Amino acid sequence: MGKEVVLGIESTAHTFSFGIVDSSGAPGPSCSAFLRPKEGGIHPREAADHHAENSPIILNDWLENNELEPGDIGAIAYSQGPGLAPCLRVGASVARALSTRLDIPLVGVNHCVAHIEIGRERCGCDDPVLLYVSGGNTQVIARLGNRYRVLGETLDIGIGNMLDKFARDNGMPFPGGPKIEAKAKEWLQENPDASLEGLELPYAVHGMDLTFSGLLTAAKGLVDRGAPLGAVCWSLQEHAFAACIEVAERALAHTGKKEILLGGGVACNQRLCEMSSIMASERGCSSHVPEKMYCVDNGSMIARLGWMQLNHAGPTSLENSAVDQLLRTDQTDICWP
Ligand code: AMP
Ligand code: MG
Repeated sequence: MGKEVVLGIESTAHTFSFGIVDSSGAPGPSCSAFLRPKEGGIHPREAADHHAENSPIILNDWLENNELEPGDIGAIAYSQGPGLAPCLRVGASVARALSTRLDIPLVGVNHCVAHIEIGRERCGCDDPVLLYVSGGNTQVIARLGNRYRVLGETLDIGIGNMLDKFARDNGMPFPGGPKIEAKAKEWLQENPDASLEGLELPYAVHGMDLTFSGLLTAAKGLVDRGAPLGAVCWSLQEHAFAACIEVAERALAHTGKKEILLGGGVACNQRLCEMSSIMASERGCSSHVPEKMYCVDNGSMIARLGWMQLNHAGPTSLENSAVDQLLRTDQTDICWP
């Protein structure tokens, strides 16, 4: 890759990542550092310190892996929000410093929209309903005119945070989602006739919205009352994923769209992907999920959206480059086809 590549910086939460798109907008692998707390959840200040410490190391890895010199970078994109404010500020500071030093354009992007656009690029979708399931976010999104609209979302915690908390309480360190998936799969293999009897949990769909904290409390209760951990992991996945797929299906029905696209770290889960495929095929729709490295938070999705914005709207001025921890999916103007 040569001149005019776009460098993307992701720093909304636990991951600090540099990614790339070439001059045609094609993404490559990211170089990332993941905060893995030994105890407890993600502390915003600790995560920001982790990002600041790792930033120069990751930048050097990124340049080496891509056989680039700083002078080959044509523009810098960064996550402007939503996310943890101290973490966002580290990414924005690095982006501003590089943009000023290298005298190249700066472009702030919406992290949630970046998940959609990398999925569209990787899966070749045209106009999907996105089921965005990550640590801090759970949203069902579809484009109408020049905005991605949030049709339904979690009213309390993100689905990934719920899985991580349940895992942590049961001795499985962050990230808990993959460990719960493994335990559920193992339990199902040993109990092929598994039924939800005695393993029922709240099924929390409220219109187009979702809640997960009641599910978390009830799952902890099942374990406390002696249910096997693998069985509870399986039931927790079945309930939480079915709720998400139900809302996504209703979004397909209301909008008349024909593609469902999964994104966010929880989209790495095979059972969720399977449920989505079954639902889509029953409706005559298609289900899509990008490669895992583009589901989890990554710098390349930020580079991709930055490249799109530069081509269709232009750069972000320094005065407008402040981060916004509460930035909503539908606040960003979508000015591309
Ligand atoms: P993100 O916030 O998009 O980077 O995604 C991180 C979240 O994805 C964490 O909550 C993880 O536990 C979750 N996650 C990653 N892999 C899986 C998986 N295989 N199954 C369920 N959740 C997962
Ligand atoms: Mg994310």
